[in-house]
Amino acid sequence: MSIEVKDLSYVYSPGTPYAATALDHVDLTVSEGDFVGIIGKTGSGKSTFIQHLNALIRLQSGSIKVYDIDLTEKKPDLKRLRGTVGMVMQYPEYQLFDETVEKDVSYGPKNLGLSEEEIKGRVREAINLVGLDYEDVRDRSPFELSGGQKRRVAIAGVIAMRPRILILDEPTAGLDPRGKKEILALVKRLKETSSPTVIIISHDMDAVAENCDKVALFSGGKIEKVGAPREIFYDDELLLRAEMDVPTVVKIVKEMEKKGVTLGEKPVTRSEFLASVKRWRNG
Ligand code: ADP
Ligand code: MG
Repeated sequence: MSIEVKDLSYVYSPGTPYAATALDHVDLTVSEGDFVGIIGKTGSGKSTFIQHLNALIRLQSGSIKVYDIDLTEKKPDLKRLRGTVGMVMQYPEYQLFDETVEKDVSYGPKNLGLSEEEIKGRVREAINLVGLDYEDVRDRSPFELSGGQKRRVAIAGVIAMRPRILILDEPTAGLDPRGKKEILALVKRLKETSSPTVIIISHDMDAVAENCDKVALFSGGKIEKVGAPREIFYDDELLLRAEMDVPTVVKIVKEMEKKGVTLGEKPVTRSEFLASVKRWRNG
């Protein structure tokens, strides 16, 4: 078990006329190795939820455990928490601040209190891992890089802390199709090499279907359902209620059904779809 959230509720500006309930009795368990997709309409509570997981937002009610770090304790070990949970916020490139890429990426590891040598090694590795050339970019200003490169530098700053859990809030937002593809490939690579557990918030249902093994659907501050992608994306009543789109593959399957072609399977990825069609043709 890497994350265990129980009965989590959260109200912004409680006790004022601006009070807004953002989370309403949410439960979620994440195991090491999971690739979790968090989906839901804007305002459904996704960002508020994940910001609890590294204590960017402090617990109001309910409980959260990240490995053995218990956030209900009076003084949880936030340093260890932030070394464990790497958080890539929305548009993380806006948070770049230092004069060189190397200094910027070093910021997180420095706060972990590592040796100079260890920091240098991690920074070099992180920059190379995100697909940039360390020697080429280390002394450059992050501000002179392209949009996609800036986002990579921001992600490098998080993975240089070697978090066992990596959380990304809409990491492909605002990128062109090629940039999106590259960032998704990077996240997959990071899951395989450095952060075994990944949680991603996304509005891209194709990306969620292709990559995630578990999906949590948020609506109105609640988790409506947690399940494998096929359990979510073929639940018509749920999707209608939460006003959610489905992956392209599911749309095609539904169109085929209307035309009288019933595969009898529930593919969500492209390769599952092709395999289903093959079996249908042979069968
Ligand atoms: P999502 O990430 O799914 O779009 P959020 O977690 O950002 O949802 O927002 C959940 C709810 O909390 C929304 O109703 C939103 O308006 C409200 N909210 C979010 N951030 C704040 C804030 N800083 N102050 C007040 N209300 C907020
Ligand atoms: Mg959000």
